[in-house]
Amino acid sequence: VDDSGEAGSRTVPAACFSRIRTLQPLARPELVALSRSALALLGLGEQEVLSDPRGAQYLSGSGLLPGSEPAAHCYCGHQFGLFAGQLGDGAAMYLGEVESGSRGRWEIQVKGAGVTPYSRDGDGRKVLRSSIREFLCSEAMAALGIPSTRAASIVTSDLCVMRDPLNSGQRIPERCSVVLRLAPTFIRFGSFEIFMGRDEFSGLQGPSAGRNDIRSQLLDYVIETFFPCVQQAHRNRKDRNMAFFREVMTRTAGLVAKWQCVGFCHGVLNTDNMSILGLTLDYGPFGFMDRFDPDLICNASDKRGRYSYQAQPSVCRWNLARLAEALGSELDVAEAGAILDDFMTTYEAFYLCMMRRKLGLVRREEAEDSELISDLLRVMHNTGADFTNTFRLLCCIPWPEDGDSEREAVGPVVDLILQQCASIEELKVANKPTMDDRELAMILSMAQTNPVMFSMAAGSPAVAQQLERMGRLKELLETDQGELKEKQCDDWIRWVSRYRRRLTKECDDGTSDLSPIKDQRLSVMYSNNPRVVLRNYIAQNAIQAAERGDFSEINRVLKALEEPYSDTSGLEPLDACGGKEQRMRDLTVCYDRKPPAWAQRICIT
Ligand code: AMP
Ligand code: MG
Ligand code: MG
Repeated sequence: VDDSGEAGSRTVPAACFSRIRTLQPLARPELVALSRSALALLGLGEQEVLSDPRGAQYLSGSGLLPGSEPAAHCYCGHQFGLFAGQLGDGAAMYLGEVESGSRGRWEIQVKGAGVTPYSRDGDGRKVLRSSIREFLCSEAMAALGIPSTRAASIVTSDLCVMRDPLNSGQRIPERCSVVLRLAPTFIRFGSFEIFMGRDEFSGLQGPSAGRNDIRSQLLDYVIETFFPCVQQAHRNRKDRNMAFFREVMTRTAGLVAKWQCVGFCHGVLNTDNMSILGLTLDYGPFGFMDRFDPDLICNASDKRGRYSYQAQPSVCRWNLARLAEALGSELDVAEAGAILDDFMTTYEAFYLCMMRRKLGLVRREEAEDSELISDLLRVMHNTGADFTNTFRLLCCIPWPEDGDSEREAVGPVVDLILQQCASIEELKVANKPTMDDRELAMILSMAQTNPVMFSMAAGSPAVAQQLERMGRLKELLETDQGELKEKQCDDWIRWVSRYRRRLTKECDDGTSDLSPIKDQRLSVMYSNNPRVVLRNYIAQNAIQAAERGDFSEINRVLKALEEPYSDTSGLEPLDACGGKEQRMRDLTVCYDRKPPAWAQRICIT
């Protein structure tokens, strides 16, 4: 199906892909940032790109590279739990793929390069702020070791589109910007959902002989190309498909476990944003937690918290069930159900394994470990501790020595942890019920007049969460800052002592030389607890500078995010930022400290 290049609302019948015939060049494309490591995947050097006078045009889909055949991919999806029919991809187009023996095979997409046949009423454009967030986070995830699509560049331009950045009803012109992104494939769960209820596909003759079902062709392509081990291990097609589905389940469980372990919240886990390869896909209103809160909702338009931090594992399972439905007769229903039933245990095993590494518990698995972890999270939640900084600080907890005084040994590190915890005022803000006043008033009036209805309402997770917040808020209102600090200190000393007792079990096998064990603990902890993640306020600083025409902050942040586990990359180390003078000089230097107060008010939709 050829694209006429016109925007408009239409369903494209019987098509999964459409060629794009006419590009929509940007006015004065300008390079904002490059990722050297992503470019290297294509065999490109930074200088090669920078010195090409048409570099920014190529990277933004404003000019066509020789051999490129632009196309857009049509997919469906469940958005916020409901089947939305055809919905993507109205904003991204393929330029082609690059294959090399050593670097593998990479599909290249431009996101924001203009309308495609699937843009419906949209303009197919993206703006600087969303492009910067996608670019920085893609590269940050890759450096953290979390599977992700990659981003090689951002290009901005003098072409503007009208957007409402604050969701205030006021539209302003913003610069059209394009991210060049890479992945082995961008096929997603939604790529298979397109065949649901679309009879027109079943009668089409495809190029692969004997199979007239495009869904089968797409499935064959995906398995043969991206799951070669699955393809080779099975002669029987159904067995092969089941092994494939199990592999997608396992990868997805592993991915969401990694998200949970760095405090990443995707924000829009619709089925069309679920990669078939288990990659993090589509960076929109994502967020890394600052203060630990299992109920964190990073997408301001997710009013009910469907995609909250703690909902992510179960939502991923739900999405896998939709994939199984979309694969339909390609799978055995009962077997697919059994695979789905394994999701949570698979996820929990990954999670526990990674959390043990974050705590440096690498030599033994103890039954108490799960509880040690949930207790840590509870203390973090109660004390409003910063997720990233607290885990990094756990590295400083001293190994227990014979005869050391507990309080003296752990005092300094507990002090450091407490510095990352919320003040009483911050906790009050954090525990304010998020439901609107009218809804809460209704629940409270039910509580007074009708206990049965009240207990029904309190049984819903959303209401229970509000009541929990109200309870905590009430307690906080009756406490003062001094009391709170003392309580926080006691909680932390208790947990740290428990952790140290667990550490001693690491050498229960009779080893007498502890130093290799201690070294191993530290190296595992330092390489599993990042010092810096892409917090919203860090992205926001880079965006604000870029909107003023200064791209240096993006590049500085990128450099730090490229080495998230190092103490020496780009940003100042933890203890060098204490000086007031330093803070005055450069407010954005200390990205590994407690975030500034304004970070709490950032709202991303
Ligand atoms: P998302 O919620 O970010 O996954 O977006 C879902 C779909 O909305 C995308 O796949 C696109 O098809 C469409 N979309 C997003 N932005 C635009 C845009 N500016 N113009 C047209 N379509 C868009
Ligand atoms: Mg999407
Ligand atoms: Mg998106």
